[in-house]
Amino acid sequence: MVLDGRRVTQFASNDYLGLSRHPLVVEAGIDALRKYGNSATASRLICGNHELYPKLEKRLADLKGKAAALVFPTGYMANLGALSALVGTDDLIVMDKLNHASLYDACRLSGATVKRYAHNNLEHLEKHLAQAGRYRRRYIVTDGVFSVDGDLAPLPELVDLARDRDCRLVIDDAHGTGVLGPAGRGTSAHLKTEVPLEIGTLSKGIGALGGFVVADRETIEFLINKARPFIFTTGLPPATLAAAASSLEVMADEPWRQERVLKLAKYVRSALENAGFTVSQGPTPIIPIIIGDEQTTLRMAAACLENNLFVPAVRHPTVPLNQARLRMTLSAAHSDAEVEMSIEILCREGRKTGLI
Ligand SMILES: *Cc1c(COP(=O)(O)O)cnc(C)c1O
Repeated sequence: MVLDGRRVTQFASNDYLGLSRHPLVVEAGIDALRKYGNSATASRLICGNHELYPKLEKRLADLKGKAAALVFPTGYMANLGALSALVGTDDLIVMDKLNHASLYDACRLSGATVKRYAHNNLEHLEKHLAQAGRYRRRYIVTDGVFSVDGDLAPLPELVDLARDRDCRLVIDDAHGTGVLGPAGRGTSAHLKTEVPLEIGTLSKGIGALGGFVVADRETIEFLINKARPFIFTTGLPPATLAAAASSLEVMADEPWRQERVLKLAKYVRSALENAGFTVSQGPTPIIPIIIGDEQTTLRMAAACLENNLFVPAVRHPTVPLNQARLRMTLSAAHSDAEVEMSIEILCREGRKTGLI
């Protein structure tokens, strides 16, 4: 990419499978643009419900092994729509402290009582449930893959806990879809469990734009009638819908993309760790390189950029104070040479900075 006029190799995007520029995906978008024009021209319930929507929704439901799917304009709006429609002021939401900002906003919009548990800490979660007063319904809400560190929620344990404690579990699998599990079905499939209601995005692994909810048919019907971020907004452009559907097709036809990005992630993690960096474990292509000190982190990011390598720095308040880090993300579209080059530069600059 070109960053401030400089050609750099970026390890920063969410285009995990490299589908955003896939020739078939681009063609599908162009064809739809020519055929249908540039805009949905209205909300879906008026006349913006393009015939491409049901096709895309069928594909998403099939991918996730669910009865039905509903596409929203973004993942952010899918979270707002699902939670504000399903959850109300008489309900309790217990959520992971490191959940994505859009889930925070969605929980707030629902009007429910919201409690947060320490990251992936089931004891803390249980404590909140034990202290809970009388609520109509209780929800546990978590990211599948956490967006900053790329670690996973303990979904099998959460599924059991939700069943035993009479709660409903909702996951946002923005970073898992297309990347984890057989055929890219996501985090729950990767962890060999099943979550009845999942929210996701088309703008990461799928390389397009849009959000979605997958669930049973009744829940989806309910959202169509109740989710305000679905009802009161314009539909997605036809080109975006066609390109997203094409991405899902390519995903199925080219399983090497998922295999490659996971292989690269494993390789880069172990190379950086062997060099002496502190990196988080896990299977995802989100690799945080924990540095700690903010100034050192910014110096490292700047030094990489001098070498035309873009690995963004993440610091307070996105992460706690003194836990600043570089957040590196990989894509199936990265070449072996680019990956080797990035490791080489990170190690060289890491040694110069005294980090390793
Ligand atoms: C990126 C992200 C979203 C928002 O998705 P958009 O399609 O970009 O609006 C929601 N949840 C999580 C966990 C994310 O990482």
